[in-house]
Amino acid sequence: MRPSAAVETKLSAKTGRFAPSITGAAHPGTLLAALLGWLDARSAGARFVLRLEDLDHTRLRPGMREEMVRALEWLAIDWDQLVLQSSLSAQHEAALDHLAALGVLYPCQCSRKQRLASNLVAADGGYAYDNRCRGRKLPAAGWRHADEPLRVQLPDTRVELFDEGGLDLSQSPSLEMGDPIVRRRDGVIAYHLVVVVDDAASGVTRVVRGRDLATSTATQVQLQGLLGLSQPSYRHHFLLLEGDTHKLAKLHGSLPFGELQQSFSGDAFCGLLGALAGLQAQPEPCTPTDLLGGFRWERVRKGDLLFER
Ligand code: GLU
Repeated sequence: MRPSAAVETKLSAKTGRFAPSITGAAHPGTLLAALLGWLDARSAGARFVLRLEDLDHTRLRPGMREEMVRALEWLAIDWDQLVLQSSLSAQHEAALDHLAALGVLYPCQCSRKQRLASNLVAADGGYAYDNRCRGRKLPAAGWRHADEPLRVQLPDTRVELFDEGGLDLSQSPSLEMGDPIVRRRDGVIAYHLVVVVDDAASGVTRVVRGRDLATSTATQVQLQGLLGLSQPSYRHHFLLLEGDTHKLAKLHGSLPFGELQQSFSGDAFCGLLGALAGLQAQPEPCTPTDLLGGFRWERVRKGDLLFER
């Protein structure tokens, strides 16, 4: 699948994006990612796309889409285009067709127990998959008829890559992470594949996201290579950690938007995020636009931060 002419045209314009999963409430880590992505895009004169990742129907709850939009509006983030990931199913399926035609798509029959038995610790701290199902064949009727998860056989090569902030993302993904699942057993098309297809579909040229996703980047770059898609620039920012458990607030969010809104105005919270990020000395209430003038990545803090309630 070569990028379509429409995608190529859009790629000539700088485009940033914020792509939250809407399977949980917006919380401080989500809003930090939105603010930094927005500042990065707007300071570069780029378009800004809001993509709501809504494919995982098993975890979607009514009202999550509206709540995410409300949270961003409360923070005074704006966007040029709103995309629902679920509207891109045709592109996701075309990508799977392309991977099947390349012969790199295979069904995986491994149980969770077998996967853990490989005992290979992955770059992200989880378990790497040992690619033991490589060589298994898709159903004769095609990948749509598979009732097992589908993986992509990545090239066994090393990706040498630094992000814009100098973070070393170099990795041999097939070895250090294992071939990624791109379609789950229940038919939901999985994160690594949709993220690269969706970014290309909106002509995204700059990806700004939390450091928890840094170890995914090399896998995604190899998928872009297999799909013939352009590679955006990447930058990974610091995370807010929860005060009590030291887990990533972005992933575990102990302070959902509903509660946040009771304690802060949007301006007050923007000012707090700006101060936590190092963009202003004191948490003076402000809007994202107020932070734009002084925004430079060199000023943004590097280390993760404990978020005290
Ligand atoms: N949807 C992912 C999340 O909410 C972010 C995807 C990405 O930025 O690549 O963590």
